[in-house]
Amino acid sequence: MVHAAATLLVADEAPDGGVGVLEAIERAAQASAAQIGLAAITGVLDWASTHTPARAACPGAADLGADGADAAGHDARLVARRPKTVRTLLGPVDLVRGYYHCAGCRRGFAPLDTRLGVQGGSLSPGLERACALAGAEMPYAKSFEFIGTVTGLDLASTSTLARATRSEGTRARDLIAAEQQAARPGPPAAAGTADGTGPDLCYIVLDGTGAPMLPRECQGRAGKDGGRAGTREVKIGCFFTQSGTDPATGDPVQDPGSATYISTFAPAAQFGAQAKGEYHRRGFDQIRQPVVLGDGAHWIWNIADLHFPQATQIVDYFHAHEHLADLTKLLTPTLDKDPAAFEQRLVDALDLGDTDAITTAVKDLHLDHCAPELVKPARTEVGYFAAHRHRMQYADFKANGYYIGSGPVESACNTIVKQRAKRAGMHWSIHGLHPVLALRTLRQSSREHVLWPGPSPTPQT
Ligand SMILES: [Zn+2]
Repeated sequence: MVHAAATLLVADEAPDGGVGVLEAIERAAQASAAQIGLAAITGVLDWASTHTPARAACPGAADLGADGADAAGHDARLVARRPKTVRTLLGPVDLVRGYYHCAGCRRGFAPLDTRLGVQGGSLSPGLERACALAGAEMPYAKSFEFIGTVTGLDLASTSTLARATRSEGTRARDLIAAEQQAARPGPPAAAGTADGTGPDLCYIVLDGTGAPMLPRECQGRAGKDGGRAGTREVKIGCFFTQSGTDPATGDPVQDPGSATYISTFAPAAQFGAQAKGEYHRRGFDQIRQPVVLGDGAHWIWNIADLHFPQATQIVDYFHAHEHLADLTKLLTPTLDKDPAAFEQRLVDALDLGDTDAITTAVKDLHLDHCAPELVKPARTEVGYFAAHRHRMQYADFKANGYYIGSGPVESACNTIVKQRAKRAGMHWSIHGLHPVLALRTLRQSSREHVLWPGPSPTPQT
């Protein structure tokens, strides 16, 4: 067919079916290449499947769970040769492999499936990875179409693709958890400062964002404004380093490629332990000055106090700024002068880290005389600035060249959660979304090599 297409190209004629000449050649070449590749794979698999000794060691402990220990030394018997179709990136391959039965465990297994990495599934590792990459990126129906268009493969159903995404995502989550649990204080793994040449500052930026869930995942949970919750909070952590400031402006400069992320549905206590694990994995305990950045949420500061007591704590400047706008709006009926001027005065005080001046400015309005109904709400707003006083020393923070905004984690919330999970009509189960978020978190961190070791096009952190 390639030859036929080439003839058409030379003759300047259009091939049948309204397809362009180059496209026709490309498709034909792709099909030929796949055929050659499939023949090679089939050859190897045929050879491997002939190796069926009468007995095999029961995998037992490897995947039998609690009873696994008892399976040690079990001897399984060849009972049949069973066919299986494996879908590969080049197309489906039929193989016949030895099927063994262990009398002790009363269970059957195919050792070749384990060696090929297709136990419990029908996708080759390469196709499984392609499906998971697409499924993590786009809605499943769209991913299904995408894989079909690019590879010319028929995956049979979107559920095959969804299953592959969940399976790889669960593996990612387990690998990430194992890394976090194994991480210990000590010499830096990635970001080096032992020789004094590495970054001087490291940031732990924490935030939460809602993901739209199925009603059964939100049962018994109060939503905003007293209604029923339709979302569950995903907590996100962003970890990055800073080696200096812009010499011209004095603005902080994040070390390129230094950001990694963590994400979870878990409660704050568990998330805190995960954040500590990532902190150690990154070797942040070797860096002189850690900084925890977040909005006003209590759980963030509890984690900071418990796990990062040596860190400077900073409330996101823009959240503080918004609170000033809210306070001004609340007080507007009592202001005889321009509310904008009043707000500017508060902003100037905030920029200096002078939260006492904010308290004083409100006190000077004598609300108890002129607007008693505003006393309580005003006290709440002012209380925010009093409570976070030490976290709002913005003039000092800027002088030290620190970041004062939690923008990096907010954009991660957007990329990791919102762009995939918060689309029109989407409602997730935890079981369905958690693995997807794990894949997206690895990708955002440029750490897919954790899941798929081998040559990586991206730098490894
Ligand atoms: Zn056994």
